[in-house]
Order: sequence, then C-alpha cells, then structure tokens
Amino acid sequence: MVYMSIQTFNLNTADLDFKNVVAAEEGGQHLKKCFQCSSCTLTCPVADSGLDLNPRNVIRQVLLGLRKEVLESDAIWQCVGCFECTDRCPQNVRFTEVVEALRRIAVRETKNKDRSKRIKLSKQGKLKHSFDKRFSESVWLWGRSWEPEMIGRYLMYGRGFPFGALIGFKYISMMWGMFIKFKIEFLPPWNSTARKEVRGIYKKAKAETGE
Ligand code: SF4
Ligand code: SF4
Repeated sequence: MVYMSIQTFNLNTADLDFKNVVAAEEGGQHLKKCFQCSSCTLTCPVADSGLDLNPRNVIRQVLLGLRKEVLESDAIWQCVGCFECTDRCPQNVRFTEVVEALRRIAVRETKNKDRSKRIKLSKQGKLKHSFDKRFSESVWLWGRSWEPEMIGRYLMYGRGFPFGALIGFKYISMMWGMFIKFKIEFLPPWNSTARKEVRGIYKKAKAETGE
C-alpha cells in the first residue's frame, strides 16, 4: 500500500529555474515530460514501505521549484536504484537517473558560495554520501572494493569515533562468518593491471565532469 500525505509548501520562495538546473544535469533530461500519472510511485518498493520517497512527488516538487525542500530531504537518498519506476514510466522520465542527478546537485550545493542558497544534506544524505565516497575510494585504492577496509573507514568517517568502532564490534561475528565462507577476503586484492585501468577511468571521468 502506498501512503499519500497532503503537504503544503510556500511557493513564494520557489526557485523557478530549479527544473532547468536538474534538466541540464546528466540523467535529468526528461524530467519535464512527467504528466504526474503516479505509475512510478505505485511500483516503487520504497514508497510502498512507508518511507519518505514518493517519486511522483519529488518530480512535482522539482517542477514547482521547491529547491531546498527537495535537496535537503531524506527522500532523494532512499531510492535503492531498482529501476522499477523507470521501467513503468510511460513518459520515459527515468526517475532513477533523475534522483542520481538530484543527489549530485545536493552534494554540490552544500558548498555554494552564496550562503543564502547553500543547502544542508539530511542525516540520511550524509550517511549515504559518505558510504558512496568510501566505496569509490576503495575501488581507486585496490582496483575493486575491499569490504573490510571500506566498511571500517565508512564507520569511522560516517559515524565518527567512538560510535563507529562500537557499531563495528556489532558486525564482527557476521564478518567472521563471511570470512570463513570465503565471501570476504582477509587480504586486499592485489591486481595492478585492474588498478591501473580503474584509475584511468577515474581520471577520464574527472577530466570530463570536473568532479
Ligand atoms: S511514471 Fe513517469 S510520468 Fe508518471 S508520474 Fe512517474 S515520472 Fe511522471
Ligand atoms: S529506482 Fe528508486 S524510486 Fe524507482 S522504484 Fe526503485 S527505489 Fe523506487
């Protein structure tokens, strides 16, 4: 069951250019074709679970120019990237890619030089962004992710000391079970060819996007 709530917004502070900013981003191109049919929301497992994410609502808010409300929400960080909404959309809006575009904009806008436009990431946003960063650093370091190092650093950076260490202890028995079943490697992967190739991809992406 999808729960719909009635929300009210102050449109006097709306940023009417926001939809153009999102549409100019990779993945946001088809945003304005949305005709609010709700097929995305009705098929979304996260919306069905009662969390904040409601794809149709997010698109509506972007179109209305509710920049801060969207970029500071937990909703844009709750998508699990299953592509159900993208498969079902009759207008090919590709919400899964729109949400990625919104996340990139949100991270960028935390450093906006104009303080009045600067946004703050939500709690879930900070944790998810921190996890993505640790994952990408781990792939840069080893050529692919190495879970013990990646999770260890995620807990330290994302949760801080000593909470990260305490949470880490909770996972030790689970990780041990995975070690003995060879699901996680004790030693870091050491494939210098893979590492070189991956670093080449990172450098190319950085040169093209500047990020
Ligand atoms: S399915 Fe597509 S057109 Fe329909 S509300 Fe969702 S994004 Fe908009
Ligand atoms: S990709 Fe995200 S928004 Fe779309 S159905 Fe899956 S969880 Fe929901």
